[in-house]
Amino acid sequence: MALAAASAAAPAPYASDPAASRGRHYPEPPVRLRDAFQRDRDRIVHSTAFRRLVYKTQVFINHEGDLFRTRLTHSLEVAQLGRSIARGLGLNEDLVEAIALAHDLGHTPFGHAGQDALHDCMKGHGGFEHNLQSLRVVDQLEIRYPAFDGLNLSFETREGILKHCSRRDALALDALQPGGVARRFLDGSQPSLEAQLTNLADQIAYNAHDIDDGVRSGLITFDQLDDLALVRRYRDEALAQHPALAGMPGRRLLFDTIRRMLSAQVHDVIDATAAALADAAPASADAARRMPRLLRHSEAMFADITALKRLLFAALYRHRQVMRTTDVARTVVRELFAAYVHAPGEMPDDYAAQPDRHRAVADYVAGMTDRFAAREHRRLTGRDAFGALEGLPLGIAPGGPGLGVPAA
Ligand code: MG
Repeated sequence: MALAAASAAAPAPYASDPAASRGRHYPEPPVRLRDAFQRDRDRIVHSTAFRRLVYKTQVFINHEGDLFRTRLTHSLEVAQLGRSIARGLGLNEDLVEAIALAHDLGHTPFGHAGQDALHDCMKGHGGFEHNLQSLRVVDQLEIRYPAFDGLNLSFETREGILKHCSRRDALALDALQPGGVARRFLDGSQPSLEAQLTNLADQIAYNAHDIDDGVRSGLITFDQLDDLALVRRYRDEALAQHPALAGMPGRRLLFDTIRRMLSAQVHDVIDATAAALADAAPASADAARRMPRLLRHSEAMFADITALKRLLFAALYRHRQVMRTTDVARTVVRELFAAYVHAPGEMPDDYAAQPDRHRAVADYVAGMTDRFAAREHRRLTGRDAFGALEGLPLGIAPGGPGLGVPAA
């Protein structure tokens, strides 16, 4: 593998430099011990929205099992993978970590089902989009500083948090903050290399942990992944090195396969990107922003990952049982939204007092954890929406069901 050593490369000329940050909306003097990006990361870790991620769905609704990924553990895995890649490329690890830990702060309860439902509810009222909401959380909704709303993060961290943005939203945002983090969606430039990196680390993380959680849940089997070159390659490698794995109970073979897949993808990003950087030779972080996207997988790995995503989509995200839960989740979010719009007084005073009632309700509902949303829904409607799903367990058993270990 190309990663010769675990030690960090020297900061590259195109790495984001905390001393050269474009700064914060409200200027603040530097502090002892921590640079701008380290301080951003610490503010994120201490925020309320960050703590809520522990009870928010990634794929499986939080109450379906204690061992599935939540948005919090997902974010930690993205930070870990991201830091490794940053170290290999000489990019700024702390900025990657800050973006990774904040990238999902705007997610609603119940994963994408919640976001889709909230977007429907907000049609005609500005819509709802989780990337924009993540930025809104760090810019406005976290209320913990005497002099400003939000966390007052550095431009570079906020730039990374706003991963996607429609042209319409970008125009609106750029009108409020001219030349700010939305500008790149209008002029077609790229975010920092650290932001590009975190985006790839996000995908590497969820592809791997969704296999793990999918098999753990019993909704997919290891055998089902046999058609994937990526899985087959590293499963065969694991078995070649440890033939006894084939006969072992539990998920050791799966874990070893996933571990090898993760390493391969991390090394692949480092190697493919290092080659692109050597070609393009950006002289600075800003020069890299003006170039085409430089963070990348090799073409072969990209094809393998695309096939994996396609399979996960069809077999797991669209699994009948996942869909049944997400249908309920959508109803819960829709009914909660309607209930608060009808009776804003059911929300805490600071939300009830907002002039834009629909946006206040969207902010309030988006901030909820899965279990708080379910409890509020029960309180406001008198119905136990998820109760109907009880008795339909996902089949979680110690050691894991459905691990079809292929014959060696
Ligand atoms: Mg994510």
